[in-house]
Amino acid sequence: MTDILSLIEKLEKEHSLTLGEYQFLIDNRTPEAAKILAEKADKIRREIYGNAVFIRGLIEVSNICKNDCLYCGIRRSNRNCDRYRLTKAEILECCDEGYGLGFRTFVMQGGEDAYFSDSVLCDIVRAIKERYPDCAVTLSMGEKSEESYQKLFDAGADRYLLRHETADSEHYAMLHPEEMSFETRMNCLKALRKIGFQTGCGFMVGSPYQTTAMLAKDLKFIEEFKPDMCGIGPFIPHKDTPFADKAGGSAELTCYLLSIIRLIHPPVLLPSTTALGTIDENGREKGIMAGANVVMPNLSPKSVRKKYELYNNKLSDGDESAQCKESLNERIKKIGYEIVTDRGDVKNG
Ligand code: SAH
Repeated sequence: MTDILSLIEKLEKEHSLTLGEYQFLIDNRTPEAAKILAEKADKIRREIYGNAVFIRGLIEVSNICKNDCLYCGIRRSNRNCDRYRLTKAEILECCDEGYGLGFRTFVMQGGEDAYFSDSVLCDIVRAIKERYPDCAVTLSMGEKSEESYQKLFDAGADRYLLRHETADSEHYAMLHPEEMSFETRMNCLKALRKIGFQTGCGFMVGSPYQTTAMLAKDLKFIEEFKPDMCGIGPFIPHKDTPFADKAGGSAELTCYLLSIIRLIHPPVLLPSTTALGTIDENGREKGIMAGANVVMPNLSPKSVRKKYELYNNKLSDGDESAQCKESLNERIKKIGYEIVTDRGDVKNG
């Protein structure tokens, strides 16, 4: 415990630990250490963002994907996936509804669907920005060339989320088919940053074959890359994937890592993810109390929500839906925070 306490203090002061120290912090965690980390994470978050929780309207634009990531329910090999894609008009309707509900960031996320070419996607981004110049547009549409990312940025997209999935190249190869590469993923993140996007990385907690040494590498990567956003959530198996029988990640470790990430890079925008809310009924609240300051309710049309099934039992209605924002806000107020109507850009500290 003494060792752990001095490491936590070092992390709070220096925002940096060695790989070995990160691993020690994870391997030797206790409920007491988690509590101390969460308190420190909460304090530093309040100094930067107060008690604000930012909301993003998540529009799942397509579950058609050319990739075959072994963990993902919408991988191309899954024949049981009922495929869909939204039209521009449908996406704009989602934004109209979201704007009325108080959303000032729209996140378009989807599989790598060739239909959403640069010109199609740029046209949609421009239309949203024209209609709602006071809103931020975030894209989470996978790997593209630097030229494509540049076009999307020039069309007005503000942010891009691309989880690195794991900072260990051998682990990356165990989670992805041969044609996907760790280098490409990391190069995409670098290109996004260089172009000027607010850039988000992230990883799954408890993904198959993950060790605490690998998690230490994820934390080191975050320390060095200093992402503007970082999405982490537990791995949850999907029945129609090669990882159907693998164990899932825990809410406990996810929250512990959220606190550490907040202390590594205090201004980071850190979502309390849907996956965390899915494995624990109070997951969203636990994530926020551990240091998260973003929630991303589902703004997709009701008819397609169940089809964007990245993992089994993924939450998409109830307080996970944008329409239930008020009920979500009540829950968030109960734990001492408040949903705000704001773009919620990263503060560069
Ligand atoms: N095609 C986009 C969006 C991917 S879906 C892209 O490549 O960025 C968004 C995230 O969901 C993924 O990055 C992955 O980390 C997460 N995800 C996928 N399958 C999952 C599973 N079974 N359990 C938990 N998270 C999962």
